[in-house]
Amino acid sequence: SVPLGFFSGIGNASKNGILIKGSNYLEALSHVDTIVFDKTGTLTEGAFEVYQTHLPDEQVDNNTLIKLATLAEYHSNHPVAKSIIQFSNHQVNLDDIIALEEVSGKGVIVKSKMGLIIAGNKSLMHDQSIIIPEILSPYTHIYIALDGKYIGAFDIRDKVKKDAHETIKRLKTLGYRVLMLTGDRKEAAHAVATSLDIDTVYSELLPEDKYEKVISLIHDGANVAFVGDGINDAPVLASANIGISMGAIGSDAAIEASDVVLMTDEPSKIPQAIQISKITKKIVT
Ligand code: ADP
Ligand code: MG
Repeated sequence: SVPLGFFSGIGNASKNGILIKGSNYLEALSHVDTIVFDKTGTLTEGAFEVYQTHLPDEQVDNNTLIKLATLAEYHSNHPVAKSIIQFSNHQVNLDDIIALEEVSGKGVIVKSKMGLIIAGNKSLMHDQSIIIPEILSPYTHIYIALDGKYIGAFDIRDKVKKDAHETIKRLKTLGYRVLMLTGDRKEAAHAVATSLDIDTVYSELLPEDKYEKVISLIHDGANVAFVGDGINDAPVLASANIGISMGAIGSDAAIEASDVVLMTDEPSKIPQAIQISKITKKIVT
């Protein structure tokens, strides 16, 4: 049977917007020694701002670039897609979309009446044999291709969350090992990690690479909590000793795959949840 203290611990957590799916997870949370954070939407706002667009030798004009990108991203709920849609003030005609495919951790491929539009990162462009230029800025770059040809790119940037730095500092002071994993490019990942004092960062990872990374940490003896926003991270959430998702924006699949769901998207809920698990354990044992 489950000691009564665990139920009060779960109740206490839920009053603080931390939903723990069972007493076994509250117990498991108290044993964690390594906290692995996803970047986008977890440590950062997940609300990218378009900083500038790039147009190589004027194949299309800026308005056309934005319009094609908006059409391609319209049905995606990735933070990158949302930022591009918000930036554009173009009313796109959704009837122009014929078929679409979202490539998890890479971007979107959309068959439209305007042609085949691909919007995504360097890796997606390479997979599709599209030749792209190197863009040198410490931001996230979303490349756009039309019918197999690169037509332009978006430089987009995200902000770290208000309480992220304080949270990382607190976790490190308490003796936790803190890592960050991301599908984003190296330069953008390192800019965020540096500003947060996170020294271990793995970038340009696919959702399955994140899963592998957590499995290998566990294999090496770590007791891992993974924290994600629920976009593209259902596999890694399920692979950690404890999967924590920020439920406000996450997908149903991610909520399903996680053991703890945070009702708000504040990283400071993580040390709070751990503290509740430790206090509860003291009461119970
Ligand atoms: P993170 O690990 O930062 O949460 P994801 O694994 O969700 O990121 O995505 C990794 C990268 O894939 C993004 O930085 C972006 O470059 C690209 N990407 C993912 N989804 C899209 C999309 N809908 N449109 C364009 N690019 C995308
Ligand atoms: Mg993500």
